[in-house]
Amino acid sequence: MSDYLNKAKAMQDELSWIRREIHKKPEVGMDLPITTAFVLEQLEKHGIKAERIIDSGISVLIEGGKPGKTILLRGDMDALPLAEESGEEFASEFEGKSHGCGHDMHATSLIGTAILLNENREQLHGRVKLMWQPGEEIFEGMKAMIAAGIMENPAPDAALDLHVDASSPVGVLNYSKGPFTTSADNYLIKIKGSGCHGSMPENSIDPLNVAIQIYNAIASMRFREIKGSEFLAMSICSISSGNSFNIIPDSVEMRGTMRTYNPAIRDYVVERIEKITKEVASLYRAEGSLEIASSAPTIANDPEMVDKVIGYLEDFGMDFERDPNYRLSASDDFGYVARTIPSVMFFIGCKPEGLERNLLHNPKVVFDERALPIASAVMAHVATKWLEEHA
Ligand SMILES: [Zn+2]
Ligand SMILES: [Zn+2]
Repeated sequence: MSDYLNKAKAMQDELSWIRREIHKKPEVGMDLPITTAFVLEQLEKHGIKAERIIDSGISVLIEGGKPGKTILLRGDMDALPLAEESGEEFASEFEGKSHGCGHDMHATSLIGTAILLNENREQLHGRVKLMWQPGEEIFEGMKAMIAAGIMENPAPDAALDLHVDASSPVGVLNYSKGPFTTSADNYLIKIKGSGCHGSMPENSIDPLNVAIQIYNAIASMRFREIKGSEFLAMSICSISSGNSFNIIPDSVEMRGTMRTYNPAIRDYVVERIEKITKEVASLYRAEGSLEIASSAPTIANDPEMVDKVIGYLEDFGMDFERDPNYRLSASDDFGYVARTIPSVMFFIGCKPEGLERNLLHNPKVVFDERALPIASAVMAHVATKWLEEHA
């Protein structure tokens, strides 16, 4: 049994403090100057050499004392454009922004992991690469980290990611052997018609009429072309155009999101939405186009690596209540890594005791900080064991 868990528990006060400092100053998107500087400062305090590989992205390489492979551990640091209503004394000081997805927990627990691994580096086989990224919520951060070289010099052979699970108590570990999160494609449909006075619709090419036909064609495709047993959401969440009683507008924009675990269905549906948009628009004398505004691939956990990881946790020092068939209809840009090397992502419980309802992306969400040292130690333990086995 490694003593990572006991060492991590001894860091509880420090980890809670770090997490609260990050929590108070949530930053959204790709630009996280305060958070990045603070995380770098904490790493440096512990003598850990860190590199800023993009403006708000950090990479740390812990070189083991023995030869071996490389494993990547991922953490994210970005917050949500969501006003916090948690009532915590360390709640967000920034209006309209909060850590409602718990990325403050991830950024912190990965600092703990770095400290544990750095102290134990002489015993490590190979090396551990740790990364703190911005822009997970907008699916831009991982792409930028990859473009900046996180997957090179040295190239990781496997990757591990952990997300807090606000709905399960401390001591729960949820995962799947195979598809875990959906792919996400946020799409924008533009329809260009021709407007005029509302009393003379015969003079228009009414884009609102076209939008309704496209909406219905997309909705009816769901069960006419895709098996009912396949998970597929392709909701149109916004239709915007016009602002008066008597003017038919020139154009319409529709925004939607598409989620599925199956990459083949993802490709098929994107192609069909594009074809429907163009052809239905053209049928009604308008012009239609489709743009994928942002996307993330599905995360399919490597089944063999899942078995290994769960096996390693047998001598971790604590028993987890586990759900091995857990799936999320949400998405995460860790998918850009998971599609290239064997990877595992899991959800770790952090719902405070006595709470019935606690949901990520909810303004009232709160997190049990006892999950911090557990998460730190799980990542360190699994990485150490994986490197040892694959040396
Ligand atoms: Zn989120
Ligand atoms: Zn998240």
